[in-house]
Amino acid sequence: MRRIAVLGSTGSIGTQTLDVARRHPGKIEIVALAAGRRAHEAFEQAKEFNVRTIALGKEPDFEIPDGIEVSVGPNAVADLVSLDEVDVVVNALVGAAGLRASYETLKAGKVLALANKESLVVGGDLIMPLAAKVDSQRRESGLAPETGPAGALMPIDSEHGAIYQCLIGEEHREVERLWVTASGGPFRGKKRDELKGITAKEALAHPTWNMGPKITIDSSTLMNKGLEVIEAHHLFDMPYDKISVVVQPQSAIHSMVEFSDGSVKAHLGTTDMRIPIQYALSYPERWDAPVEPLDFTKLGSLEFAEPDTETFKCLALARAAGMQGGTLPCVMNAANEIAVAAFLAGEGTYLGIAECVEAVMNMHDVQSVESIDQLLGIDTWAREQAKSNIR
Ligand code: MG
Repeated sequence: MRRIAVLGSTGSIGTQTLDVARRHPGKIEIVALAAGRRAHEAFEQAKEFNVRTIALGKEPDFEIPDGIEVSVGPNAVADLVSLDEVDVVVNALVGAAGLRASYETLKAGKVLALANKESLVVGGDLIMPLAAKVDSQRRESGLAPETGPAGALMPIDSEHGAIYQCLIGEEHREVERLWVTASGGPFRGKKRDELKGITAKEALAHPTWNMGPKITIDSSTLMNKGLEVIEAHHLFDMPYDKISVVVQPQSAIHSMVEFSDGSVKAHLGTTDMRIPIQYALSYPERWDAPVEPLDFTKLGSLEFAEPDTETFKCLALARAAGMQGGTLPCVMNAANEIAVAAFLAGEGTYLGIAECVEAVMNMHDVQSVESIDQLLGIDTWAREQAKSNIR
C-alpha cells in the first residue's frame, strides 16, 4: 500500500490523482490533502477517502467536520508532507509556491511525485542533490527496485514521465539527445502580428491537453515547453545542447530519447494525464488504467516541426535562462507568473507576457543558488519588477 499526500488536491492534477486512487483502492491510500482554495471540495474529498488531515491556504469560513484535523498557514504544507503516515507526496501545487513543499518532502525522506515543474525550474540546484540522497537511502533500506532508478523523484509531467520510461535500462553516457515534444498550443502556425489582440479565452482553448488556466496559457506561449526543458536538464542531468524541442501536434508521442547508435525510443499513448500520474505512483510496476488505448489504425499521420521561437519568444527566453542558470530561471519564472496572471485578468496583452519576462530577466544580477530563502527573496523581487513591467 502506498500512502499518499496530495498537494493541490482540488486542481486538475489533484482530482485526476484521486481518480487513479479510486481505481486502485488496494494499492493506494490517500492520507492527507492540501488545497489552496476550494476548501469545500477538499472536505468532500476528505470524506470520500476517509482522510483526516488537511492543509488549507486560508481559514475555512464554515464549520470543520468532526474527526478532521485542519492546519492553515505557511508551515501547514511542510508539516503535512513530513507526517509519519505519508510515503509519497504528489506535489500539484501551482507555481513557485510548490518549491518549499518539494524541498520538505525530500528532506523528510519521502518519495516526491512531481507535477509542480517550478520546483525544478527554480530550485533544481537544491532539489536534485536532495533527491539523490533519498535515492541512496531507498537503496540502502531495500525500498528501491532491484534495477532502474531508485524512484525518489518521479516526474508527473507527461514529457518527463515519457523520457523517464525511455531511459530505464539505458546508460546515461549512451544518451545522445532528449527530444521533448510540444503540441504547439492553440496558436501553432500563427505569426506575431496575428497574436496581438489574443484574449485569455482564446488562449485557454488548448487543442489536446485539459489543464488548469496557468499552464494552459504557458502552453500557448510555449513557456511551458521552456520550463520543461529546464526541468529535463535537472531531472536527467543533460546539458542544454542535448535537449531539443519538436512540435508534434497530435501529442501522441509524449517525448523521445536518442542514443549514441542513432536509435530512438519514443513513448506513445493516449493524451490522458492519469497515465503519467499513475506511473509516478506505480513505478516500478504498471497497473491497469481506465483509458482508451491508442488505436494506431485510426491515428493517421504524425507530424513534426521545429518550434517557432521568433513568434513564441518565451521558449527562447526560458532556454536562455536555463543555460545561464543560477538564480535566472527563478526570476524568469516569477516574472512569467505575474505576466500570465495580468493577462488572465485582462490587464496585460498576450505578447506582453514575453516582453515582461525579458525585461525583468535583464534587470537581474545572476547569483548561484544557495538556499530556499534566497530563492524566495529573489522570487519576491522579480514579482515586484514584473508588476511594474506589465505590457
Ligand atoms: Mg508537459
